[in-house]
Amino acid sequence: MPVSPYEMWPVPDALELVLAQTQSLPAHQVALEQAVGLTLAASVTAPEPLPPFPASVKDGYAVVAADGPGEYTVLGEVTAGRVPNFTVTPGNVAYITTGAPLPPGADAVVMVEETTPLPATNGQPRVYIGKAVRSGDDIRAVGIDVTQGQQVLAAGTRLEAAEIGLLATVGAAQVSVYPRPTVAILSTGDELVEPSHRPGPGQIRDSNRAMIRAAVQAAGGIPLDLGIGRDNKDELMTLIRRGLTEADMLITSGGVSMGDLDLLKPILENEGQVHFGRILMKPGKPLTFATAHVAGRKRLVFALPGNPVSSLVTFYLFAVPALRKLAGWPNPYLQRVQAHLSQPLPLDAERPEYHRATLRWDPGVNNGCGGFWARSTGSQSSSRLLSMRSANALLELPQRAGVLEQGSMVTALIIGDMIGI
Ligand code: AMP
Ligand code: MG
Repeated sequence: MPVSPYEMWPVPDALELVLAQTQSLPAHQVALEQAVGLTLAASVTAPEPLPPFPASVKDGYAVVAADGPGEYTVLGEVTAGRVPNFTVTPGNVAYITTGAPLPPGADAVVMVEETTPLPATNGQPRVYIGKAVRSGDDIRAVGIDVTQGQQVLAAGTRLEAAEIGLLATVGAAQVSVYPRPTVAILSTGDELVEPSHRPGPGQIRDSNRAMIRAAVQAAGGIPLDLGIGRDNKDELMTLIRRGLTEADMLITSGGVSMGDLDLLKPILENEGQVHFGRILMKPGKPLTFATAHVAGRKRLVFALPGNPVSSLVTFYLFAVPALRKLAGWPNPYLQRVQAHLSQPLPLDAERPEYHRATLRWDPGVNNGCGGFWARSTGSQSSSRLLSMRSANALLELPQRAGVLEQGSMVTALIIGDMIGI
């Protein structure tokens, strides 16, 4: 049997190497509407206090707190967005709505539920104030939510809905963010046809390209489709050069195992530097990682194994953290949680296994054991893409003989969300 010249790397060491080779892309400015899902490259401070004026928290009456309960003349009304053109004097009040600026002279608000309208006197509306309040009650003081000059978001923050809202609040219409990495995707293999084609004898449809494209998008990258490359050195070299020139990261699949037509490693050795060519893991052993300098920038190459499951598992384990680091995430690692096994699982004595599973929260009402429970997706054959279906976690199973019993705790790497599970 031929022996690979490539040393077998443990997963954690290989991941550290990948991250050490990965730098965040240069930051740029984008409009706020384009910023969702991106990572902030520079901290953002508030140029003005929020609220910028003392604002009512309730619909009610702006009062002089020292006046206390009693009957009062309503001098006027102030609604949100309007500026009061009168002063509230002792013995008088003003109608006010939520978010409206407090009129000068008033120092508290009594909510409308604590008041009763009275008949007008001389055309002047009157109200009974039924509650004693203290100065400042039901008023948002200037700067109570955000003070002037306060840092509202630190560099490295991921921008989701709340953060976009904050940026809008402080007037950050343009923000400095790390760009989405461009990821070129290439399938290799003479046997592959497009998903829209009926495979001829000996052919199969290319599943990896569509799958990796979707995974790249979900991970925040911009896919660049290089199509299917035939098992031909010159053709692959041309496509790989294009990927290295046009993208920050190149992802290929197939052509990295030990067969005669496993052409990727020699091409990558030629174009740049292969850092590792074998990983101690199941599935995904032939994963290959290389870098190449093109136009003054380091490009990352993940040559994924051809088997669809191996492809996707290695993509999550290695390419996703690298993508996150390119995109400026301060912590690019996949999150881990502890989970109970829903069924016994056999272990592999030769390699640590990344077992596809569906994680679900169980309150423990029936089994007395609340927490995350991990259900295997079934047969873990590396060609069986059904084993990835509905998997939102990879269980890190230790390299060991024997079986992990049902209920045992394992660590689970989160690869998908739990919405709808
Ligand atoms: P290879 O690493 O090229 O030897 O491929 C390993 C296995 O994965 C073979 O059975 C290939 O047919 C299969 N394979 C490779 N690329 C793809 C792909 N893009 N879609 C589906 N199966 C693939
Ligand atoms: Mg192949």
